[in-house]
Formats: sequence, C-alpha cells, structure tokens
Amino acid sequence: MKIEIIKCLQDNYSYLVIDVENNFACVIDPSESKPIINYIEKNKIELKFILNTHHHFDHVDGNNELKKKYNSKVIGFKKDKNRIPEIDICLDDREIWKGEQFESKIYHIPGHTSGHVCYHFFNQNILFTGDTLFSLGCGRIFEGTYEQMFSSLQLIKSFPKNTKIYCGHEYTLKNSDFCIKYDKNNSALRNKIKSIKNKLNRGIPSIPSTIEEELNCNIFLKSKDIETFSKLRDLKDNF
Ligand code: ZN
Ligand code: FE
Repeated sequence: MKIEIIKCLQDNYSYLVIDVENNFACVIDPSESKPIINYIEKNKIELKFILNTHHHFDHVDGNNELKKKYNSKVIGFKKDKNRIPEIDICLDDREIWKGEQFESKIYHIPGHTSGHVCYHFFNQNILFTGDTLFSLGCGRIFEGTYEQMFSSLQLIKSFPKNTKIYCGHEYTLKNSDFCIKYDKNNSALRNKIKSIKNKLNRGIPSIPSTIEEELNCNIFLKSKDIETFSKLRDLKDNF
C-alpha cells in the first residue's frame, strides 16, 4: 500500500490509498474530482472506494463525479448518511470496514461537526483525521461542544505514537505560529517548525505528521484540561 497526497482547492489535501499490487485505490475526502481523475488516469488506477470524514463541501464535493465515472462505492458515518452525497456504505462507530485489500476502523470524533469520523488504517499505522486534528492544530468547533472536541482529541492521543497523521488541510505553518506564541520554550516544536519550513519551501506538504510529534508539539493535544483547551480554542479562532 502506498499513500499519494493530492492537493485540492486552496489548501485541502485528498489522499489516495493505493494497493500497488492490483492498482486499486480508495480516496479519502475528495474535495474536487479533477485532480483525483488526473492522477488515477495517468497511473491507470481503479478507484474502488470513496471515504469521507465529514460532510463539508471541501471534503465531499468530488463524490458525485468520481462515483459516476468509476462506479466507486461511497463510505461514511451512519449518522451522517443524509449529509454525505451518494453514500453507499454506512459505518458505525468502531466498526471495521473491509473492501478489496483495504481495511480500516472508523471512530466517531465529534466537535468540528456532529458526525465527524476518522479512519484508522491499522495495518499501515495511518490515521486520516479530516478537520478534527491538524498538524499543530485542531478544527474549529462548528457543531459540537468544547467537551466533545476535547474528548475526540483524547481518543486520537491514545493511538500508537508512531501512527502517521494525514489531515484535511495544509494549515501547519499558520498553526505553528500559534503554538510557538503560547509555548515559547518548546524545543521539539522549534525543531518541527524548521522542518516544516524546509518542506514547504521546497513545495513538499508538511503532512504526514505522527502522533508522537503532535503530542510533543501540538498545544491543543498538550492541554491538560478542558478549561485550558477551551481558552486556547477561543484564542485561535481570533488569531
Ligand atoms: Zn470541515
Ligand atoms: Fe475542511
């Protein structure tokens, strides 16, 4: 299996999980269809599945066209079945989904939206976190409560430290400005910022991150209690 990062819209990432033996793929959060089509046509890949983390347009807008073109199956959270366009397979919290050679466990992580989920490709040690956990940040709380977002992040913290994190947006540099402002003496964060800038300057995504790096550097994951977390989330909204 290999992961291909596809840049979409302004700062979104869609991801292809590619079974290189069969040239089958699933796509996570196709913001738009065009860049996905370009890549899979060029590489003669069959798009078998479309997985959505949540219903926002910049994560599902490619569903329709991709499904029509490739007859792919759309997968999402059961409770969001009325908001995920063209959904075929509805999954429940903690359900394990298997399709072709792909295997993933779904976790309900509300806060950004009420039906937000993440996909854990446990055989590959990869977590697709959508707009809940970003590298050095977390999503805005649109539909949920601070408590929900905080506990969703606690769940993400419990994954193995070497888990790779693939999130929905390239917000890392802006997020790092916020983290360093309130966590000045964090040397791990300073080092991460150097490597982020290095990558971005060369046109390379800052993604993936790892749970370990986020535990050390992400101020929202470092928040010990809900009060600290809520205060930081409010400050970040106006940053
Ligand atoms: Zn969103
Ligand atoms: Fe988004």
